Amino acid sequence: MRNFQPVLNEIYSNIKKTKDKGIVASYIPELASIDKNNFGIHLRTIEGHEYAVGNYNKLFSIQSISKVLTLTKATSIIGSDIFKRVGVEPSGHPFNQLSLLEIENGIPRNPFINAGAIVIADILVSRLENPKEDFLDFIRNVTSDNTIHYNESVALSEKKTGYKNFAAANLLKSFGNLKNDIDVVLDFYFHQCSIEMTCNQLSKAFYLFANKGKCLRNIVHLTESQVKRINALMLTCGFYDEAGDFAFEVGLPGKSGVGGGIVAFLPNNFIITTWSPGLNKKGNSKLGMQALEQFTTKTQMSIF
Ligand code: GLU
Repeated sequence: MRNFQPVLNEIYSNIKKTKDKGIVASYIPELASIDKNNFGIHLRTIEGHEYAVGNYNKLFSIQSISKVLTLTKATSIIGSDIFKRVGVEPSGHPFNQLSLLEIENGIPRNPFINAGAIVIADILVSRLENPKEDFLDFIRNVTSDNTIHYNESVALSEKKTGYKNFAAANLLKSFGNLKNDIDVVLDFYFHQCSIEMTCNQLSKAFYLFANKGKCLRNIVHLTESQVKRINALMLTCGFYDEAGDFAFEVGLPGKSGVGGGIVAFLPNNFIITTWSPGLNKKGNSKLGMQALEQFTTKTQMSIF
């Protein structure tokens, strides 16, 4: 069994010395006050060993990381029919960019840009009996943790300022790619983004992607072929318009969010989650990305 603690300690002390910690997302007012000195890493191996440093047990807003979990839930319900309404190509543009959506007739490039995630939210609103409750139950279930919650103030903050998301939903609606009422779909979307989790909890939730579709309790949520596809999407589209750079520097599939979290994993090996709220220009956690680059370089463990 490999002991990852020394390498995490070493990365932690390197990162703590770094002066430029990036900029905390302020376009969602409720996130603007988060202290950018927070930094945590949590690693869970496929056999269940855990290693961690820093603020790995502190809750933060998972934001776009939730998009992988909504895609998973929608895939388990309607399978590959999802891809009649959303593409699988990297967009090469920021996560909230709109013009491509108009040129491409309301079919978002992939499920991880905002427009794509809004279509997935629409699918869940159509298919789940009590969408917000059922989705939260799903997350609690895959994480084996009933304490996970929505943060209502963050959801409200996004609702008040989410002009681009309203614009995307309206464009989708005009192309017939949104079946439900715009306000209902966006209410679901803002809530999924507002979920708070710790690094520790995210490493548990993403276990199923490293474990061929089976969660910690060995329940099958996705087939092996569905996991292969979702993992491929994380590698190619999981880091905004910096997915190429992330693959180049880190070499793991994963997903980031503007709350400063990043979850990455090596299939059949480990899941590693970092949290540092300061972002780089593309919207990825600046120090989280540096920590993961150091991790795969020092351990020589990446998919390549
Ligand atoms: N709730 C955020 C938004 O819609 C998610 C952005 C992100 O984490 O990428 O802008």
